[in-house]
Amino acid sequence: MSGGKTKVVIAGGGTAGWIAAAAMSHQMGELLDIILVESQEIGTVGVGEATIPPMRTFHRLLGINEQEFVRATNATFKLGIQFENWKQIGEKYFHSFGVTGKQTIITDFIHFWLRGRELGVAGEFGDYCLEYKAALQGRFSLNSQSKINYAFHLDAGRYASFLRERAEACGVKRVEGKIAQINQNPDSGCITSLQLESGQELVGDLFIDCTGMKGLLIEQTLQTGFEEWGHWLPCDTAIAIQTEPTEPPTPYTKSIAHHAGWRWKIPLQSRVGNGMVFSGRHMSNDEAKDMLLSSVEGKTLTEPRVIKFKTGRRKKSWNKNCIAMGLASGFLEPLESTSIHMIMTAVTRLLQLFPHGGIKQSIVDEYNNQAESEYERIRDFIILHYKATERDDSPFWRYCKDMEIPYGLKHRMDLFKDFGRSNQVEGELFRLDSWTQVMLGQGVVPSSYHPMVALMPESGLQNFLGSIAAEVDDNIAMMSMHEDFIKRYCNRV
Ligand SMILES: Cc1cc2nc3c(=O)[nH]c(=O)nc-3n(C[C@H](O)[C@H](O)[C@H](O)COP(=O)(O)OP(=O)(O)OC[C@H]3O[C@@H](n4cnc5c(N)ncnc54)[C@H](O)[C@@H]3O)c2cc1C
Repeated sequence: MSGGKTKVVIAGGGTAGWIAAAAMSHQMGELLDIILVESQEIGTVGVGEATIPPMRTFHRLLGINEQEFVRATNATFKLGIQFENWKQIGEKYFHSFGVTGKQTIITDFIHFWLRGRELGVAGEFGDYCLEYKAALQGRFSLNSQSKINYAFHLDAGRYASFLRERAEACGVKRVEGKIAQINQNPDSGCITSLQLESGQELVGDLFIDCTGMKGLLIEQTLQTGFEEWGHWLPCDTAIAIQTEPTEPPTPYTKSIAHHAGWRWKIPLQSRVGNGMVFSGRHMSNDEAKDMLLSSVEGKTLTEPRVIKFKTGRRKKSWNKNCIAMGLASGFLEPLESTSIHMIMTAVTRLLQLFPHGGIKQSIVDEYNNQAESEYERIRDFIILHYKATERDDSPFWRYCKDMEIPYGLKHRMDLFKDFGRSNQVEGELFRLDSWTQVMLGQGVVPSSYHPMVALMPESGLQNFLGSIAAEVDDNIAMMSMHEDFIKRYCNRV
């Protein structure tokens, strides 16, 4: 502590470092002395451009104006993810951010829908979801009554600069340089300072490790350990490339499965992010590069870049006086765009549990328990996409179909099959609607519906379903095309 202020040193200035700096300085700036060190020579991972809706809540916490943010980061709007070839080659489904239909206290909407299908009075499941139908029609709008749930596709480099400006305005000091050595207290093992190649020493009370996958502080110095989940999530390599757009940006991400993983397409305002995610055991880098280059549509703007990754999490996100965030804390592959969100929850958690009067084990344990359960629940949701497949056209998909899965996920899949219930756990990121859409999309279908829905007369059920679908269509009719909306939104002053 210096003059009553806690000295915080943030190591790394990628998305994680600047999110941490912006949030901590905005919320607690007057109580902290924050220094961020980053190395332009080392650079950042340079990907991470699809997000999920809780980002908007986090931005509100930081007082970020959404229009300014969309303009500054070249962002487009995102209503969900379209999955192609995941259940079967040639089939598609959509995981939207919206609520589908209406539920009662006793039964989820899916029971009404299943009964409606049986009677021949229900449409597609997505007909009852605004975000799904708007996405497929390429529409997007915001107005004061708008209940649409959305996120963004953004330029990661511009986002870091946008946050940097805010953080520096709130007093964060940025230091350019490479960390060459990490000094520890010989008795406690706590980190005392970071020594840069230039000889400069950054002394701190609390160190935030945002140095990316290598985890310079949390792993290379504190040797915290890593729990690997490659046996459940076998993809371990990505190849990314940017292209020029050839069509208006879709308000959704595309995830297209191939024989050894999947491929993403993320549209920004002026370019498209593309990437292959695959298992190195089932596909070579050259094969993946060829597949990526032959499937992208526009002129390429960058060279293909290979990124190796390990799926799993640090055994402790907080160890001694070091808290790891972003890739330094672990990685879940980008299928559901959850990593940036997890940086935001990590820094929010730290602010909530900010140690005063010294670091106490109870606070560290609470932080780590919350981080662990967040990781595991999101992990299970991602595994679902691989496990619940009907594909058996390649060794990769046969492996996924046959693999053992965590008990919690198995229970959820069984409960859904047997009873049509997704069993949402309190506080978990993915809500019932998400689980239901992905289960159905991947071919996990309930064998029956709740008997109470059969008490509703057929005409009543038809009216109930029809009125929801009509409300969705009425709302969509008032929406703009996504591209037109962005133009207006970004030009508005
Ligand atoms: C293929 C892929 C696709 C992804 N897609 C998504 C997505 O769609 N959505 C999503 O939410 N997330 C996604 N992610 C995750 C997302 O990219 C990261 O969570 C995010 O970019 C945060 O990265 P980071 O800041 O932790 O690490 P990095 O970007 O690697 O930054 C590390 C920082 O540490 C600095 N540094 C390292 N060593 C030193 C040193 N010795 N001295 C000084 N500075 C140092 C570097 O200069 C850099 O500033 C994806 C990840 C991958 C691998």
